[in-house]
Amino acid sequence: MKILALDLHWTWNHEADLLWQSINPDLWEKTRNPWITLTRTPKSDLAAALSDPDTKALIKASMARRKYELERRTWFTQKYPESSLSEVAYFSMEFMLSEALPIYSGGLGNVAADQLKAASDLGVPVVAVGLLYAQGYFRQEITPEGTQKALYPFNDPAHLPIQPVLTPDGEWFRLSVQTATGEIWLRAWKAVIGRATLYLLDTNDPSNPPAIRCITTQLYGGDAELRLRQEMVLGIGGWRLLHVLGHRPEICHLNEGHAAFAALERARCIAEDLNIPFSQAQIIARAGTLFTTHTAVPAGFDLFPPKLIESHLTFYSEERLGLPIQEFLALGRLNPENTDEFFNMAYLAMKSSCAVNGVSQLHGEVSRSLFAPLFPRWPQREVPVSFVTNGVHTPTWDSVAADDLWTRIAGKGRWQGTLEGLGDAVRHLDDESLWQMRCASRRGLLQALSEELPSRQCTVGEDGLWCLPTPALRPDALTIGFARRFATYKRPDLILHDEERLVRLLKDENRPVQIILAGKAHPKDMEGQAMITRWVNFCQRQDIVGKVVFLADYDMALAQKMVQGVDLWLNTPRRPWEASGTSGMKVLVNGGLNLSERDGWWAEAYTPEVGWALGDGLEHGGDPAFDHTDAQELYRLLEEHVLPEFFERDEQGIPRAWTAKIRESMARLTPDFSANRTVREYTETFYLPLSERYRERYQIDRCSAPDIFDRSKMLQAGWSSLRIGEVVIPDKESGKSPHAFIHPGTIDPKLLDVQLYAEPIEEKARIVPLHRTEDLQDGWIAYETDVNLEGEISDYTLRIIPVMDGLCVPLEAPFILWQR
Ligand SMILES: *Cc1c(COP(=O)(O)O)cnc(C)c1O
Repeated sequence: MKILALDLHWTWNHEADLLWQSINPDLWEKTRNPWITLTRTPKSDLAAALSDPDTKALIKASMARRKYELERRTWFTQKYPESSLSEVAYFSMEFMLSEALPIYSGGLGNVAADQLKAASDLGVPVVAVGLLYAQGYFRQEITPEGTQKALYPFNDPAHLPIQPVLTPDGEWFRLSVQTATGEIWLRAWKAVIGRATLYLLDTNDPSNPPAIRCITTQLYGGDAELRLRQEMVLGIGGWRLLHVLGHRPEICHLNEGHAAFAALERARCIAEDLNIPFSQAQIIARAGTLFTTHTAVPAGFDLFPPKLIESHLTFYSEERLGLPIQEFLALGRLNPENTDEFFNMAYLAMKSSCAVNGVSQLHGEVSRSLFAPLFPRWPQREVPVSFVTNGVHTPTWDSVAADDLWTRIAGKGRWQGTLEGLGDAVRHLDDESLWQMRCASRRGLLQALSEELPSRQCTVGEDGLWCLPTPALRPDALTIGFARRFATYKRPDLILHDEERLVRLLKDENRPVQIILAGKAHPKDMEGQAMITRWVNFCQRQDIVGKVVFLADYDMALAQKMVQGVDLWLNTPRRPWEASGTSGMKVLVNGGLNLSERDGWWAEAYTPEVGWALGDGLEHGGDPAFDHTDAQELYRLLEEHVLPEFFERDEQGIPRAWTAKIRESMARLTPDFSANRTVREYTETFYLPLSERYRERYQIDRCSAPDIFDRSKMLQAGWSSLRIGEVVIPDKESGKSPHAFIHPGTIDPKLLDVQLYAEPIEEKARIVPLHRTEDLQDGWIAYETDVNLEGEISDYTLRIIPVMDGLCVPLEAPFILWQR
């Protein structure tokens, strides 16, 4: 029983729901939380329920299903039975697994948790590490003036579906960490997510001084110092925890730069295990480290003043890593010599990884420009940041009606394999089934809201009870959803640009439209909070009252209801600041359609058959004139396309154009923008090859063969001694081959890749390698190629870059020499 209630598999697999209902129907209905249901039911009631033969049978069946689920052959075990990958360690500041474990703020936690769940479905071995925040992220209340109030209810660990990590003797496990000011203690907790495990650390150990105990109180609260301390606990404490518990993952996956200290602690553990210098262990650790960046603007990077790093990390760096603090600081700097430069966690992550990716195709591009300064003279497109577009864990976000429909066409285990054929199955669905599912899902949302609106929307203030207007939502209205963080770049007020034009739309009785909104603004973000106020005031306009509702306290549970029920999901960020965005993906499985700026995932997902797009696909910064253009376009799309398609019905009452879009959006986009696809892509593109590389390096060092360490030293030290002599690119008609003369200086020529390079034509790279033909006098070497050059010969120039088996170029060796 306890095992079932503590396995967060229940957040997406509802097979045991009947069991919990039979134990305490009221509590279950209210919380939908098995752990609360189990632990809050009075002992006598529980005993009575458990003696019931039906309940007994349900327990037995649920346990059997769990056993089957854990033992079944998975995508990973089937496809990679001999894999060298035994475990991936996944680090993230936040995880949005369930309302039952509120240790998240938004998108980043969503990505982390959905991937963890998909890894469990697919059998990819992942152990995750995060922090247990006593208060999580703030909760929101709206005052009668329309201002946001931040509340911090306490997460009592006893009510969370987690358990303390225990020692073999059954004692609470505590991790001791030496600091300059003495020993501090970290407590460790464990959450089970199907096959995956999530460890959570907190500092609230009674024997710690108060300043230490507060480190893990709030997520994204406090100042830079608190953030640094949290990141130290997550990275250093987190890796050490895994190590002490016996985990030896080949892969360390850093979900955003926050966790980058983990890479250093990992190297320290390797140095200790193999008895080698830290600098060598760093190179081994690096082979198995993947960094996923989520930021689209430089201001999004975590930056720490050098003084702060010195005061908090000198002890760790010098005593633990054996690294002078100035060298430590250099790891987070663009220019190691610049002692004023702040310490950039993303740079540390870059310098600790053998692979880096952004979270959508567009964000990959943006990230290459952000990180270009680390790779001077490299063409931007070769800056080593690729992309894996995010996806959402479909079973977490689907409605009951959508789940039924998908089960009918594709069976129960449909999200556990490769998703092949799912699109075709959807294309066979008739309009009637799709439309019925949509209407049932919309009604489900309105039903859920009508139940919880009274408590969600009301506050008791100086003037007594006050409630946000409770709308009269209609089951037949086009229901538009907009919910996300209220940050300026997301332009939550774009649709309010011309209020009267929006009001005209809302007042049309023949084509009823309603808008459901929610979102929090960071307590320090005054502009974001002003936008909330603007919306709350708008909702109270007499002429449209009841048609627009702002729901207080956006959270995962509300997000689930909204994405299941709405017809249209609206997203209006300023391109290219939405790195990926995930909320729009959540409506796909439910047959909701997207109207969004061409940014993040929508920039690659949009075609006219699946929804609507705003913007011209270019960047306009914060230009108010473009906001105006975008707003006009938004109204035009709503007036001329969205509403007509939704309200144009045939004799059966079905909007055929709309259902056609639903079908295409579900068929084409749901599989592609699922966490299932994302995790398979991470596994095949990164986890598997990096784990090979990691094992090789770990091994190489053991037999102390001439290794990457010496060779990268050689490249570093010798690069400036490299010379390019004469380069000859004869006319194509001459029948002669291009050739060149190189002096490798102190570098072994085997480590050099001599190439003719031209700017790509239509995205197609034009890089032609030259091979070594003859060693000449004084160390000069002749190179040649007989490959035909594409395009004009004058496009080409010679360049040399490092090359070496197993070396990550240019991440580990950002050297490049150009002829001109
Ligand atoms: C999905 C989700 C997010 C992320 O939404 P974006 O539109 O990608 O910013 C944030 N908060 C909650 C509660 C969510 O469910």
